[in-house]
Amino acid sequence: MKQFQAESKRLLDLMINSIYTHKEIFMRELISNASDAIDKLYYKSLQEDDTGLSRDDFAIQLTLDKENRKIVIEDNGCGMTKEELEKNLGTIAKSGSLSFKQENEKKENIDIIGQFGVGFYAAFMVAKHVTVESKAYGSDEAWCWQSSGAEGYTVDTCEKDSHGTKITLEVKDNTNDDNYDTYLDQYTIQNLVKKYSDYIRYPIRMEMHKSRQKPKPENAPEDYKPEYEDYTENETLNSMVPLWRKNKNEIKEDEYNDFYKSKFGDYENPLKVIHSSTEGVSTYNALLFIPSHASYDYYTKDFEKGLQLYSNGVLIMDKCADLLPDYFSFVRGLVDSQDLNLNISREMLQHDRQLHIIAGRLEKKIKSELESMLKNDREKYEQFFKAFGLQLKYGVYSDFGQHKDLLQDLLLFHSSKEKKLVTLKEYVEGMKEEQKFIYYAAGESVSKIDMLPQTEALKDKGYEILYLTDNVDEFALRIMHSYSEKEFKSVSDDDLGLETEEEKEAAKKKVEENKDMLNFMKDSLNGQVKQVILSTKLKSHPVCLSTDGALSIEMEKVLNAMPN
Ligand code: ADP
Ligand code: MG
Repeated sequence: MKQFQAESKRLLDLMINSIYTHKEIFMRELISNASDAIDKLYYKSLQEDDTGLSRDDFAIQLTLDKENRKIVIEDNGCGMTKEELEKNLGTIAKSGSLSFKQENEKKENIDIIGQFGVGFYAAFMVAKHVTVESKAYGSDEAWCWQSSGAEGYTVDTCEKDSHGTKITLEVKDNTNDDNYDTYLDQYTIQNLVKKYSDYIRYPIRMEMHKSRQKPKPENAPEDYKPEYEDYTENETLNSMVPLWRKNKNEIKEDEYNDFYKSKFGDYENPLKVIHSSTEGVSTYNALLFIPSHASYDYYTKDFEKGLQLYSNGVLIMDKCADLLPDYFSFVRGLVDSQDLNLNISREMLQHDRQLHIIAGRLEKKIKSELESMLKNDREKYEQFFKAFGLQLKYGVYSDFGQHKDLLQDLLLFHSSKEKKLVTLKEYVEGMKEEQKFIYYAAGESVSKIDMLPQTEALKDKGYEILYLTDNVDEFALRIMHSYSEKEFKSVSDDDLGLETEEEKEAAKKKVEENKDMLNFMKDSLNGQVKQVILSTKLKSHPVCLSTDGALSIEMEKVLNAMPN
């Protein structure tokens, strides 16, 4: 018996003891794996001439065995070698950063199920034993992986005629809380396929047991009663039309949501669906989603951005990074275009003109959808911004600020007024007539900033201040320099533009008069400050710290904390 990798074991434990109410998703997970496996082989068959495979041969076959409590899901896709079986089913591929952080452990079961797109392990929510028989395409060995759960798994040789994977689930017994028998019912399975996997582009078939009326015999007596007979039919359960090719008006919100969840392994509905079809210079269908929350690895270096890329319905790349700029990297989705060459390599794709045109259009589309969300559904936008605002701010700051015009109107900042979030436009519209600058203050949290001595006088005069709490905020504002011709000004700046020339003169004079005392203070601080001066910024606080260079205290902190 081999052991699961530690993280897999914990995930498995969770699955086995799951109280998750949507156990039925195991079906969509296994079907989507089968479809992925067929995609891989189909793509290969298109690139090589001599495979002898044809699109019509590909299918996913489901079989129910009520008596022995078994569900079988079989595909004729790429299959897995022994090594692949162990690697793919014994470890969580995307685990590195997952590492089941303490905080996650305490959260609801459901969070974990969704966050990691559990995939294959979902089988253990309904099965007490799972058998995976697989034969890799081109290999003449078949292997059988088996597991009853967290104790471990075995891998042995087995007999299998053709390439592909056959998964057998031995369904759990009913408990007081859970009805597992239902998964052995053909109509339940039929409905699950319709619900979650209708768009899968290969036929999903199942032997359906049916009953029909026998034809009436010619010499039937007067009191003939119709007779019935049982028969079976291998029925295709899915419509096979990809969702993105369907007419927008005919798609229900639920269909989009289910599609998103099953395809991208999220447990929450997306915040926004963007479905667009375009013809002309380039013809493509795009189906994009803005998630409602950042995935566990979004702000880590493990995150890989990109959209799925299809060429006329055939998946050619899982994460095409060139379709999304970094600042919109949170967008999930796919693009299907007839104008792309199927055999295009990753390197060639980077220089593909069509792809650049599509990427440019998508960028515009995403931006305008976000703008309209900001305008028409503020609450939703703020939810979006909580999840991904940081990424937009990085976007403003990155590449020497060249995207600032594109992104500046999508930013929100905490405001000193009523402690709400405001856009820069709203700030400027609310500026006082004589106000020269857009004021901001940086700090750890809104409440801490609110207590800064430097903010007091400004607030007192009725000026609004932007409270910056993310490290990147101030860098972003500095690179923008100004908005709507109003310069940004840190509250810790020496000159806030509040005094007249006479007032400034008077203040200077006062410093001069008290020189000895101020110097004494400075010396007492033993070189920890550059100078001590009298300030006109203070109200109820006796002192505050100021900077006179290009960097604010907060920025210095960030820079000092950076690894060299
Ligand atoms: P994901 O599908 O997100 O990669 P899963 O847990 O669903 O994660 O599957 C893990 C891996 O196991 C897949 O990436 C794939 O390599 C392999 N796999 C699962 N099912 C099959 C199958 N039916 N045929 C071939 N490979 C499969
Ligand atoms: Mg999967």
